[in-house]
Amino acid sequence: MQFSYQTYQRSFQQPLQTRYGQWSIRRGLIVTLEDDSGKIGQGEIAPLSWFGSETWEQAQDYCQQLPPQLSETQILSIPDHYPACQFGLGSAWEALTQNSVSASVQPNICGLLPTGRQALSAVSRLWEQGYRTLKWKIGVDAPEQEQAIFQQLIGSLPQPALLRLDANGGLTDESACSWLHLCDQVAGQITIEYLEQPLPPDQFSAMLSLSQQFQTPLALDESVATLSQLQQCVQQEWNGIFVIKPAICGYPHRLHQFCQTHAIDAVFSSVFESELGRQACLRLAAELSNPQRAIGFGVRHWLAPDE
Ligand code: MG
Repeated sequence: MQFSYQTYQRSFQQPLQTRYGQWSIRRGLIVTLEDDSGKIGQGEIAPLSWFGSETWEQAQDYCQQLPPQLSETQILSIPDHYPACQFGLGSAWEALTQNSVSASVQPNICGLLPTGRQALSAVSRLWEQGYRTLKWKIGVDAPEQEQAIFQQLIGSLPQPALLRLDANGGLTDESACSWLHLCDQVAGQITIEYLEQPLPPDQFSAMLSLSQQFQTPLALDESVATLSQLQQCVQQEWNGIFVIKPAICGYPHRLHQFCQTHAIDAVFSSVFESELGRQACLRLAAELSNPQRAIGFGVRHWLAPDE
């Protein structure tokens, strides 16, 4: 198969603020495979290095050293520390060799609110766009400050909204307890669907213990960025939710196989891919994400249109 790639970059309409800092440009690569008959399969490499994937530069270097002709064996033997490359080339290969059908059911999608006080004015906009599950990032400012905004936020949410909180591993044991206590307290007023990744990935047992102390469910995200981490947390009997970002989770066929053989409560989620990667992720999500929960792909309003 003939292999080629192109780099791309897209700006965020407004920078996304997380506890890792500000994110204002999404860089990635589009890979193309062409067989002898001229048939083409494309895939997207969208790294997220602070989550543990390779960096954009490493992905580009990897693609650059690949020969212009690739065998199936070469495509399927990308090392595990290039999970975004595995996903991009793996989906291009699947697009070339399989008749993938687009997901026909319109999925229930969770919309991402801006961080901090800006969330308050964004609620009605996202609600009008049809989002009924909303996600808000925390762990960026002091807990007291964020919790004051949180009280206003839940007061402004129309019924029957579901709210997800995402700390990106930015809380301490103490602030996680204070957040979970608050979430349990407001449960009669609004449904907090879950709190995502309260503590950093190296504090698995602390998160396990938090999940037993409070009613509000917990989800792992950073802890299960790659397939091997996901396997480990399943083995360690995490009984909460797993946020899966297929674009950095390695080969799609491996993820597919794993999710089909393990009954996990999975919520598939975006890494701000472009349309090509998004479609590959949505196909997997349609089959493997828990249909009772909204998928985390309500991020289109964050990025400038595809260039
Ligand atoms: Mg998250």
